[in-house]
Amino acid sequence: MSKLFIVPTPIGNLEDITLRALKVLSSVDIILAEDTRTSSVLLKKYDIKARLESHHKFNEHKTIGYICERIAGGANIALISDAGTPGISDPGFLLVRKCREEGIEVETLPGPTAFVPALVNSGFPCDRFCFEGFLPIKKGRQTKLKMLAREERTLIFYESPYRLVKTLLQISEFFGADRQVSVSRELTKIHEETRRGSATELAAWYSQNEPKGEIVIVVEGEGKVRDREIEE
Ligand code: SAM
Repeated sequence: MSKLFIVPTPIGNLEDITLRALKVLSSVDIILAEDTRTSSVLLKKYDIKARLESHHKFNEHKTIGYICERIAGGANIALISDAGTPGISDPGFLLVRKCREEGIEVETLPGPTAFVPALVNSGFPCDRFCFEGFLPIKKGRQTKLKMLAREERTLIFYESPYRLVKTLLQISEFFGADRQVSVSRELTKIHEETRRGSATELAAWYSQNEPKGEIVIVVEGEGKVRDREIEE
């Protein structure tokens, strides 16, 4: 039976792709990609010649119906994004939900995603965590941060380098100046770096040392702050 495959791709290092992902990408009829030029670099490296079609947040509302029709008609289709796992702060959710509604089988392969290495590398508890993706840029940003200040689980945010200092200052303001934070930058790439410290210390560091590249912010939960205060 034909199906939709959700296939994670590397978040930097092109060697971070599973043998099964390569096998699926080589065997499907169509690969839906966020940016066909970005994905063609990966596909060329592994000599994968499947037909590439564009599927991104600006056209996904319009195309999901037709994609489902083609899978129902016998085509095997894979969805990839520019990096990491589709559906995680990337297009994917709408198509998977539509497939579920239409009774079309979906198979999601395990693989790269940026928040898992950032979380594990932070050294904060990773038995329970809360993935928030990107914070709203303007409306609702402060309300969300105020609400999350009491969250007991470790928190994870995706952030752009242009907003990193602002976000660290806001974490310091709403969560407390000594709330511990871990910033992972350029994971799996040549200039990979993880820096830990209080929100205030890291805001000061990145004000002096302009951050570049892709960033995940991991923040210790409120419960951890209370545990530390009881120990002291
Ligand atoms: N689908 C992706 C995933 O599974 O992680 C996320 C895509 S989202 C559009 C892009 C954001 O993910 C970046 O702005 C950054 O916050 C994070 N990200 C992706 N690659 C990264 C990397 N190599 N190092 C650090 N953060 C990364």
